[in-house]
Amino acid sequence: MIEEIAYGKINLAMNILGRRPDGYHEVDTVYQSVDLHDTVCLEKSDTFSLTCSCGELPCDESNLAYRAYKALLPFSEDLQAVRIHIEKRIPVAAGLAGGSADCAAVLRGLNRLWRLALPDEALRRIGRSLGADVPFCISGGTMRAGGIGEILVPLKKLPPWDVLIVHPHVLVHTDEAYDLFTHSCTAHAVDMGEMVNSVAAQDFESICSAMGNMFESLIMPHVPAVGRCKDMLTRLGLMPLMTGSGPTVFALVPPEKDGEEMATALREAGRNVDVIVTALR
Ligand code: ATP
Repeated sequence: MIEEIAYGKINLAMNILGRRPDGYHEVDTVYQSVDLHDTVCLEKSDTFSLTCSCGELPCDESNLAYRAYKALLPFSEDLQAVRIHIEKRIPVAAGLAGGSADCAAVLRGLNRLWRLALPDEALRRIGRSLGADVPFCISGGTMRAGGIGEILVPLKKLPPWDVLIVHPHVLVHTDEAYDLFTHSCTAHAVDMGEMVNSVAAQDFESICSAMGNMFESLIMPHVPAVGRCKDMLTRLGLMPLMTGSGPTVFALVPPEKDGEEMATALREAGRNVDVIVTALR
């Protein structure tokens, strides 16, 4: 049996540039992996099976892990069955790319299990057809992404600063969030150059100041929980931001402060939210 760790992501900055004729949206974003992860176990078996520790998630063709298996099958010499189990920790439909991370982990895992020797670039190409965040999730880290998320430029690795993640128990479906952008384009663009320079300088304060997400002001009127999560983090003196298409909100914890202590305060103050302490990776 082999194990692949499927790390979640946050978007330190996110601009939506427009809708393409194929329905996808062009983005300009800075992705950042976090330690929060699912674990994907894969082993050879006589029959295919997919199981997940999270009961709400269907383990059928709609699961991105299953779609990754189907996409890689043509690369194996004979039709090989596998048993896949996902130990789910990343909240679902939360803007943390949990599904894309699982998908990338299955691509990496089957590449190893079946000794396909496909380079990461090939896995990213296959992943692109499965989801916009999958190419990034193949190797993760800190990256600026263009196109639909597949044109990746690695940035300098950031220190493992603590991150507080506040997840309201609300689902936001990515395609519905993008529909809001189509109908209303009043959101302010983020200065991506400022973010890239701040990451290069590894400057905590300027990274926090440069953080922004065009989705945030579009989603907030429709999902009031986002504003409430932001308020909780702001009251601790942090600079919160919604990740991806939401509804999860995160804040970087200053290096001199203790993320666990802040999380305890948040858990005492907040009802109907999950508070997760993790770190940049
Ligand atoms: P992204 O940031 O990649 O757009 P997200 O973090 O907003 O995604 P996910 O948790 O990846 O959201 O889930 C997006 C959709 O994918 C959900 O509707 C979910 O049901 C579906 N999905 C399919 N497979 C998985 C999986 N293995 N884990 C989580 N969600 C999955």
